[in-house]
Amino acid sequence: MVPRNQNTEFIDLFDEFYRDYYRNEIGELAQNYPDEQKSLIIDWENLYQFDPDLAEDYRNKPDQLQEYAEEALRLFELPVDVRLGQAHVRIENLPETTAVGEIRADHRGQLISIPGTVRSVSPVVSYTTDAAFECQRCGTLTRMPQTITTGDFSVSEPVQCHGCEREGPYRVNLDQSEMEDRQLVRLEAASTDNARESPDSIVLVTANDTVGDVQPGDTVLANGVLKVVSPSEDSHFDATISDKYVSLLSYEHVEPENLISLSRDDEDTIVDLSEADDIYDRFIESVAPHAPISDEIKLGVVLQLFGGVEKSLEDGTILPGTINTGIVTDPGTFVDDVVRYAARLNPKSIRVDGTNTSQVGLTTAAYRSSNDSKNWALDAGALVLADGGLAAITRIDELKSGARAGLESAMREQEVLASKGTATRALPADASVLASARPKYGRFDQYESVGEQLNLEPHLISQFDLLFIQTDQPDADGDAEVASNILDASVAGEVLTQARQADDSPYTDEEVEEITSEVEPKIDPDLFRKYVAYAKRSCFPTLTEDAKVALRDFFVELRSQGLEEDAPVPVPLRKLESLVKLAEASARVRLSDTVEEEDADRVIGLLRSSMEDIGIDPETGELDDEVTRRGLSEEARERLEDIRGIVHEIEKEYDEGAPVDVVVEEAEKIGMKPSKVEHEIEKLKQQGEVYEPRTDHLRTT
Ligand SMILES: [Zn+2]
Repeated sequence: MVPRNQNTEFIDLFDEFYRDYYRNEIGELAQNYPDEQKSLIIDWENLYQFDPDLAEDYRNKPDQLQEYAEEALRLFELPVDVRLGQAHVRIENLPETTAVGEIRADHRGQLISIPGTVRSVSPVVSYTTDAAFECQRCGTLTRMPQTITTGDFSVSEPVQCHGCEREGPYRVNLDQSEMEDRQLVRLEAASTDNARESPDSIVLVTANDTVGDVQPGDTVLANGVLKVVSPSEDSHFDATISDKYVSLLSYEHVEPENLISLSRDDEDTIVDLSEADDIYDRFIESVAPHAPISDEIKLGVVLQLFGGVEKSLEDGTILPGTINTGIVTDPGTFVDDVVRYAARLNPKSIRVDGTNTSQVGLTTAAYRSSNDSKNWALDAGALVLADGGLAAITRIDELKSGARAGLESAMREQEVLASKGTATRALPADASVLASARPKYGRFDQYESVGEQLNLEPHLISQFDLLFIQTDQPDADGDAEVASNILDASVAGEVLTQARQADDSPYTDEEVEEITSEVEPKIDPDLFRKYVAYAKRSCFPTLTEDAKVALRDFFVELRSQGLEEDAPVPVPLRKLESLVKLAEASARVRLSDTVEEEDADRVIGLLRSSMEDIGIDPETGELDDEVTRRGLSEEARERLEDIRGIVHEIEKEYDEGAPVDVVVEEAEKIGMKPSKVEHEIEKLKQQGEVYEPRTDHLRTT
């Protein structure tokens, strides 16, 4: 028997597949074609069920199979008198994904599915796929099909006119040419360090009805065929961006948490873990385990990663579930490590540093002119890229005031405006912001009010659900513990490196295991991220009556005190929303469908500690540091008086003035720490109360 023509065989197979699986969908397409619908979307899983070999062929030889699939669609017997002449087949739901950073030349010609965030989109252009060049000398039309595989929109001219055989000049006759819409899209890995020069990204070339399907910040699976061009083959292609690009077949819009694939084993592990009695401690200890930062701050970060539930109200209002946390810190603490580490634990995240980020880079989506960056039109700032994910921003105090205002407005509105000339367009920017900042003078002055040293505009501060202060004050007991922890982490790192690198490590494998396990995260970052993704996908807790009562009572109490006439900081109604979001996040940590009283208590405790940090006494609603500052300055004044008195007594006994060490010694006798005495002496000198006639000797004025 003569084998049937292979083309016909494939076309018949697709025809059978359509009849079994897509009869209704094709009928619908025929009714809507071409104005409302131009493509048939097919699910790869269905194709695999129908014929595993055919489905595998589609992944390995997509260009060819696409042609057969589309030919079969054109030939499909329709109930209505419509011709699906230009209809396309768009395949989706591939069995595996390929990260942007893992795309290799080996994937050339294959159908791959790439998870990522849309970073930029070009303007939509009408691209001439088959250009008719009219010779200006003799009027002959020379047709020139344009290769679909170029990375920009340039059109190649014929070498010579078919009529007069000269090199033009030509005019493109648009009536005789075939055109289609085209758009370039740059896709970036879902977790990105924006501070890096060139984050992993890939260019998508889209055509026809996929054009305009995405905007910057969208989280998608991009399904398409990998093409490789050599720069010489197409000089217009920007070889520094990449010599690879993807000819796009379809987009699937997904929530960031769906970018993480979870196996059945993963799910079992997660559910088991959620039942552990010490689940909160385990998560707290797994946030940057090497960083000696308070459990309150780490709990805040954990709750932020899990997030509250986004709530749609009947009137169409959407209350976002995103939680924002700010940490104002002395230099030299490990706060920035925690901020950066948190980015690793979220399914979608952007890392940004305020010292090298402009307003454009942070909060706006900028239209660029075609000169400075080829055809890119709309380029997303970090908060747009972080839509639905986490924006981890270190040093927001370093942002220019315009960028800070932009940050505040994006956090408030969950969107940013992109403008070009007089036209503006809103892009979603519902990012959960975790930010660190330095205090006003670079370091907290313990003798001044914390509130006055925050160095952030009140409007910006009010966008944070949680605001913590991390000081770096010497404290003998605490320091000993922290120092041991830091040293343990270093030793573990050294032992591990030695065991791996040196030939004669004195440690056995068991010893290495034991030493390193002391500082290992209780939950490794990969599992942490999967757990968060699982919780966000499957857990939407609701408040129980007990939790509601606990939150209400705490809030009413706080408000009533805040309403008193001389209360310096009224507690805004929004704080109640913060409490609810945090309590929902707390329930999600143990995958609970209900928010219990224990969740309410946990977040009330956290909010109290956060408020105490910035100096609001939760008992009185008063700005604590007003009181503290008065108290402190009185106390401080007394202390200064005492020390001045000591200097005055001692200087009588010495010709060269009172030696500093003797003054310190005397002050210790009345219970002052040497470091504090030195600090006070500096103050006295600044105030002109004492001076230094020679080094380390003091005299009163
Ligand atoms: Zn000619």
